Amino acid sequence: VSDCDLFITGCAVVCVDRGGTIHDPGFLAVKGGLIAATGPAEAPEAAWFRSRAGESFDARGMVAFPGFVNTHTHVPMSAFRGAAEDAPDRLHRFLFPLERRLLTRELVREAALFTMAEMALSGTTTFADMYYFEDEIAKAANRAGMRALLGETVVEFPAADAPEPYGGIEYARRFLSQWAGDSRIHPCIAPHAPYTVDAEHLRIIADEAERLDVRVLLHAAETEGERARFAASHGSVLKYLDTTGILSPRLLAAHMLYLDDGDILLASSRRVAVAHVPASNLKSGRPICPAWRMSQAGIRLGLATDGPVSGNGMDMQGVLTLYPKLQKTRESRRDIVTAREAFHAATAGGAEALGMADRIGSLEPGKAADIVLAETRDFNMQPVYDWYATLVYAMRPHNVRHVLVDGRWIVRDRRMTGFDQEEIMDRMCALAASCRPVIEEIGAAVAAEGESK
Ligand SMILES: [Zn+2]
Repeated sequence: VSDCDLFITGCAVVCVDRGGTIHDPGFLAVKGGLIAATGPAEAPEAAWFRSRAGESFDARGMVAFPGFVNTHTHVPMSAFRGAAEDAPDRLHRFLFPLERRLLTRELVREAALFTMAEMALSGTTTFADMYYFEDEIAKAANRAGMRALLGETVVEFPAADAPEPYGGIEYARRFLSQWAGDSRIHPCIAPHAPYTVDAEHLRIIADEAERLDVRVLLHAAETEGERARFAASHGSVLKYLDTTGILSPRLLAAHMLYLDDGDILLASSRRVAVAHVPASNLKSGRPICPAWRMSQAGIRLGLATDGPVSGNGMDMQGVLTLYPKLQKTRESRRDIVTAREAFHAATAGGAEALGMADRIGSLEPGKAADIVLAETRDFNMQPVYDWYATLVYAMRPHNVRHVLVDGRWIVRDRRMTGFDQEEIMDRMCALAASCRPVIEEIGAAVAAEGESK
C-alpha cells in the first residue's frame, strides 16, 4: 500500500478554499479517492509524496481546479435539443405533449449517457437532475463515473414512469431505497413546480423529505403565469410556497426570477438554496434573476445550465461567464460579482447548494479528489494575470483535458473512460431520427395554432 495513489504536479492549483489559495506551480496528492495534500510544487511535503506515489502525473502547462457542480439539469432532454426553439409557451404547448408521446425508459437511458459525456468532457463532476426514470440516470451517472443528486419528478398529471397523478412520490420512494447509502449517487425528490404540484402534495413531499432525510428540487418563481397567479392569491410565489412548508434548508430552488426584496429575505430566513440558470432564462424572455442580491442576503447560490432543451449547452463555462456579466448589467455596477466570486459559485457554491460542501467543491485535504485539469497553453488562455479572470471569462470547454472523480480518471485526454463515445454518439443519432416525425408533427401543430390567433 502506497502513501499516495496519484501525485499531480507542475500545474497551477486553484483551490477555491476560504482563503482563495492558489499554488502556481503546485502539487496535488490523492489517496483513497481523497485529496491527501496540496501545496507549492517545491515544498518539502511535495517531495515526500512524490517519492511514495503509485502514479506520478506531469501536469505542466495545465491548471487544476475543483470539478464544476451543475445545480440544475434534465439530462435526458438532449434527445429533444433544438426543437421548437421559438414557440410561445413552449413548455405547455410543445414539451409536455412531446414527452407524453416519446418519453420511454430507453430514451432516458441513452440520452442521459450522451449528456454525461458533454458534461464530463467540459469539466463537470457533479450535477443535480430532475426528470423521470431517475433510476436510469443513476445507472448512467455510475457508468460515466460522475457524482449526482437525482430527483424523481412529481407532477399532478400522469407521467411516462407513473400513470397515476402524483405517482412520482411512490416512484421516488422506491428509487430512494434502491440507492440508499451510495457514495456518489444521492437520490431525492423533485416536485416539478408550484403550478404543477398542489399545496397538499407540496406539504406531503416536505414531510416525506424530512422523514427520509433527503433534499428537494423544485422550479420556483420561473414563469410569468406562475407569478401572476400567486401574486393574486398570496402576494408572491415565495409567500405561497412558505404556506406549504416546502421552504427549508433541504430545498434547492431553480430559477427564482420573480422575487422582490421581501421574497429574498424570506428565502434567506428559510435557508433555501438556489440554482441560478442564466442561459436558459435569457432565452425565455424573462427578467434577469436577482442572483447577486440573493448571494448578498447569504443565500447559498450555485450555477446551472438547465436541461439541453432549455440551456442547450451543458458545459458550465457558458453559464459561468454569463453570471457576472448579467449581474453587472442588472445592477449597473462593474465591481460586483468578482471573477473569484463567480468561480466560487460554479464550484464550492454549487457544493453548498447541494448540501455536499463537506465532501466536494474545493481542492483541500480530506475532500473528494474531484479534479479538472485544463490546458493553459492554448490561444484563448494566455496570458494569465489573474487565474479567476482566465477561468471565468476566457476558458472554454475544449480547454478541459482530464477529469477525475473520487481520484478516478473519468476523462483522460478528452475521452470518456467509462464508455465508448462513438457508440453513444451513433445511438443518439439513431434516437433523434426516430423522434423526428413526432417533433415535426407537434411543432407544426404549435405553429398552426400560433398563426390562427
Ligand atoms: Zn428545469
